[in-house]
Amino acid sequence: VTLSVAVVGTGPSGCYAAEGLARKVPGCRIDVIDRRPVPYGLIRAGVAPDHQTTKGASRVLDRLFEKGQAAFLGGVEVGRDVSLDELRALYDAVVVATGPVADRTLACPGADLPGVVGSGAFSRWYNADAADGPDLAHVRDVVVVGNGNVAIDAARVLAKTPAELARSDMAPTAEAAIAAAPVRSITVVGRRGPGETSFSVNELKELAHLVRATPVVDPADLADDGAPISNAAAMDVLRGFPAEAPEGRIPIRFRFRLAPAGFAGEGRAERAAFARMRFSGGAWAPTGEREEIPCDLAVTCIGYACAPGLGLSEEGGRVPNEGGRIADGLYVVGWAKRGPSGTIASNRTDSHEVAARLAAEVAPAGRPGGEGLRALLAQRGVAAVDWEGWKRIDAAEAAAAGPDRVRAKFADPARLLAAARG
Ligand SMILES: Cc1cc2nc3c(=O)[nH]c(=O)nc-3n(C[C@H](O)[C@H](O)[C@H](O)COP(=O)(O)OP(=O)(O)OC[C@H]3O[C@@H](n4cnc5c(N)ncnc54)[C@H](O)[C@@H]3O)c2cc1C
Repeated sequence: VTLSVAVVGTGPSGCYAAEGLARKVPGCRIDVIDRRPVPYGLIRAGVAPDHQTTKGASRVLDRLFEKGQAAFLGGVEVGRDVSLDELRALYDAVVVATGPVADRTLACPGADLPGVVGSGAFSRWYNADAADGPDLAHVRDVVVVGNGNVAIDAARVLAKTPAELARSDMAPTAEAAIAAAPVRSITVVGRRGPGETSFSVNELKELAHLVRATPVVDPADLADDGAPISNAAAMDVLRGFPAEAPEGRIPIRFRFRLAPAGFAGEGRAERAAFARMRFSGGAWAPTGEREEIPCDLAVTCIGYACAPGLGLSEEGGRVPNEGGRIADGLYVVGWAKRGPSGTIASNRTDSHEVAARLAAEVAPAGRPGGEGLRALLAQRGVAAVDWEGWKRIDAAEAAAAGPDRVRAKFADPARLLAAARG
């Protein structure tokens, strides 16, 4: 008897868990399930479309399926098409790798106004993972709330010219909307000091090479105020930015010590209010002063909730676990396990460790595995997309690309399914 394992989620963490299992337990029968008819989670739906080298991480994961070490089952949503309990009965073990489920939202007035959008929804839109996005037709001033790389992605993508977005795989509708938007300023706002950002040096430096935009920061904002410096390398890059952008260019202005206090406007966001913060007595506290920044679009990049429901309990927005184990034969990896931080690569070691643990703890019990699941799905009329179906989607998207992009992704699920059928 061979071990049968279902992995829920084909993002990096799920794929790395499958890879780890295939190595530890040769011959193990692994199905990697995703609610989307396409694989790779945030590599496809989150990573910015102008960062094709990063998106290339998927080509390494392809080997798992190409070599037959695991099978892809797309278009199957656990919790809708099959329950987690049913999976647990069918397989010897189940690995939950569901990633983020929703944007964290700001608990302040006006956060639900049109023109205020979470980074997950925003990146899914420009990555053609969701059809609907913000209306950019009248967007002149943009505020990006957050001090991590996702905030830089949002600022950079909005600042780029069509020529700079060429050879990307950005959703054509998003690319056209960005090209037509009359953007004149972008302000990236952090609630703490410039020493405590989560920016990567390379992502920051890239902003200095944009065709029509210049990253700027007021030197007074970088002055030593006794606040902690946990990211000195990023602080050094910020120090190299000018105080103002040359006339006619879009400033990408970095602001610090401003906590979001609300959004206001006539039927849609027109300005963002912030409470000024000060580091004193070893902690950040409001000074009592407020500041308003005009904004027609606010992208909030403040993290994600990663507890998938599915009957699992929740703690701090993720699934409580002990070293990746939730219960007998039930494990969790990736953002669902650790919360929403870390790169694609940081999932690899973690997923391999959980896979090794699973391999050591679970013995094969002759359960039906994938055959049982496929029979159940057929009985329920759920047409899963297999690896060959995904290859047909992949080929159709590449064929639709035209000269200026690497692929034209299909956002419409019906179109994806039609392409999968060939
Ligand atoms: C906007 C954004 C940009 C990023 N850019 C970079 C970058 O440039 N470089 C970098 O290294 N990292 C980047 N990251 C981080 C990286 O994407 C994550 O570290 C990684 O994707 C987390 O992997 P995961 O497998 O836990 O989750 P995910 O990649 O989200 O995968 C989870 C998968 O589970 C599926 N799923 C969820 N629920 C169900 C269900 N009920 N049934 C079936 N399937 C389900 C989802 O459809 C999804 O495919 C970025 C993240 C975001 C949000």
